[in-house]
Amino acid sequence: MEKIRLGISSCLMGENVRYDGGHSHDRFLTDTLGQYVDYVPVCPEVGCGLPVPREAMHLEGDPSSPRLMTIHTRHDITERMLNWSEEKVVELEKDGLCGFIFKSKSPSSGMERVKVYDQNGVPAKKGVGMFARIFMEHYPLLPVEDEGRLNDPVLRDNFIERIFVFQRWRDLLKKKESRGRLTDFHTRHKLLILSHSPAHYRTMGRLVAKAKEFPVNELYRQYQDILMEALRLKATPKKHSNVLMHMMGYFKQQLAPEEKLELLELIEKYRTGFLPLIVPITMINHYVGKYEQPYLKEQVYLNPHPIELQLRNHV
Ligand code: SF4
Repeated sequence: MEKIRLGISSCLMGENVRYDGGHSHDRFLTDTLGQYVDYVPVCPEVGCGLPVPREAMHLEGDPSSPRLMTIHTRHDITERMLNWSEEKVVELEKDGLCGFIFKSKSPSSGMERVKVYDQNGVPAKKGVGMFARIFMEHYPLLPVEDEGRLNDPVLRDNFIERIFVFQRWRDLLKKKESRGRLTDFHTRHKLLILSHSPAHYRTMGRLVAKAKEFPVNELYRQYQDILMEALRLKATPKKHSNVLMHMMGYFKQQLAPEEKLELLELIEKYRTGFLPLIVPITMINHYVGKYEQPYLKEQVYLNPHPIELQLRNHV
């Protein structure tokens, strides 16, 4: 697999582009995730021609279409930022991004809950950074997160899983469209989809079963939309436990009673928060090898991202 290309707010890379001349370096993003990712840094404020250091700014007015204003000298940066952002998102198309990591809280780069001030100077955390909004409107399917939310291990696992799926999906799109290739992609991702949403899993199963009824490009389009919608839903311990039990069913004939009991206990301890997901997954991976279960061996769910990232090691 080629390295995944991700957009990122430049200050998270350690670049001194913040209004105060500093940065917001995030070591996990650069040193750990960075081993698997090629970042495309974007600083909208520097990109649209503002200097470093510069006067701090914030959003004002209607949270759905706020103005970007410097705080003391009251310069209105809105049009400048909007024009630059609209050009920038088109320019980024050539980079083949699989997602974007935004700097939280920024009036330019924050993806949610950014402060917007009303006419009395009272802030409400209802805004979206000006560049982030235009980016998300231009790329509605791309996985996006901010560095603050990525401190939550569940959200981190979810986001990184999605960017790896997106990369595989992009690889599929590079090949000639074919129902067979799509079915193969779906087969390998079935249990991963199930861990996010049993309802989407069923819908996608029906779509693939009726693949011949659609023009192939329409089939791809529909599949992609449902896939990305499914993966936006959080995979919870309850949903994971359901998938683990489902996988256990494939070994009904082979597992000795004490092996079954042991696996059931691990799943239950995971479900109730006493063990990390990696423990039952490791056991199942062991049985997949031992009993040569070909369907499970192909399941992305068992190895959705590099184990070195340790994304399934939390309780
Ligand atoms: S938050 Fe965005 S605009 Fe602000 S310094 Fe970082 S990249 Fe630049």
